[in-house]
Amino acid sequence: MAKHTIVLIPGDGIGPEVSAATKRVLEAAGLSVDWVELPAGASAIEQGFENVLPQRTVAAIQAHKIALKGPVTTPIGKGFTSVNVQLRKRLNLYAAVRPAHSMPAIKTRFENVDLVVIRENTEGLYSGLEHEIVPGVVTSLKVATEVACTRIARYAFRYATRQQRKKVTVFHKANIMKMSDGLLLNCARKIHEEEYPNIQYEETIIDAGCMKLVQDPRRFDILLTENLYGDVMSDLCAGLVGGLGVVPGSNIGEDAAVFEAVHGSAPDIAGKNLANPLALIMSGVMMLRHLHEDSIAQKIEDAYSQVLTEGTALTRDLGGATGTKEFADAVISKLK
Ligand code: NAD
Repeated sequence: MAKHTIVLIPGDGIGPEVSAATKRVLEAAGLSVDWVELPAGASAIEQGFENVLPQRTVAAIQAHKIALKGPVTTPIGKGFTSVNVQLRKRLNLYAAVRPAHSMPAIKTRFENVDLVVIRENTEGLYSGLEHEIVPGVVTSLKVATEVACTRIARYAFRYATRQQRKKVTVFHKANIMKMSDGLLLNCARKIHEEEYPNIQYEETIIDAGCMKLVQDPRRFDILLTENLYGDVMSDLCAGLVGGLGVVPGSNIGEDAAVFEAVHGSAPDIAGKNLANPLALIMSGVMMLRHLHEDSIAQKIEDAYSQVLTEGTALTRDLGGATGTKEFADAVISKLK
């Protein structure tokens, strides 16, 4: 088996706890790996780096092309630009892919939910272009480019084809943002008509779309959207299948991929061995499939499914009392 070199960014808050748990599970399942552990976020400053996204960390991901990342803290309303936004832009990780599906033994309002949010990751209101025009008046620029809209639309249809999925739905607000959201719609229609007419295509205005999503998520398949809506919809979809503790994610570019859970650094439970590491373990499974390590990925999936089904080692967010470390131990004990 090939040995992989993977950049590991433990992150802030619960990040070090869930990434340590994930690392142990991946290794116990047989992944042959050299971890290149580097910081990002508040922990980078604590370790004496010059800024929250050290050049060494970016360079390592560029060199090795793959990273597993814990969440990082971003101050609200002031301070540094989000590490995540910087990382996604610097590495051109243009597609966020976030599957949200029902899990064995996790009871929620709906069964058999199987959604994938595909979020444009590099522009929209995350351009960071905010200005104070005169005191008391600020603007925030929403950027949409034909290149990025076409690229994310093509990614969504290609993903649908490769994963044998049936439908792409664009969530938009083009009735109000006629030019920016309108551009995404035009690009998605074009890619659908010219390249993927075999995949069903639909559009929904986001407000009505979110109502339909919570009324019956089973009517949707792939949800394609711009940056900010994708952020909100990722957490909404997480809520439909059991919460942030069970939803993985990846940020994909042409030259690199960074795998991370949807959740943040959860300062309210950090350092208490309370976090559910499953979302990052599942992100690790997505990473293994990206690396063509399908049999190790399957082993881990089978092991955590068994733990969930037995229901005796669940973390607090899923109604249990098992700690982060002990959940990882339970998964490891089920590896075959
Ligand atoms: P959050 O996702 O950190 O937490 C929201 C709620 O979900 C909290 O109650 C938390 O305890 C719970 N939760 C989250 N992950 C959990 C897990 N694995 N197990 C059990 N419970 C879990 O969102 P927030 O509180 O809005 O943000 C906290 C910080 O994280 C902010 O600084 C934010 O900017 C950052 N953030 C980072 C990322 C990232 O690095 N990818 C993503 C989202 C938010």
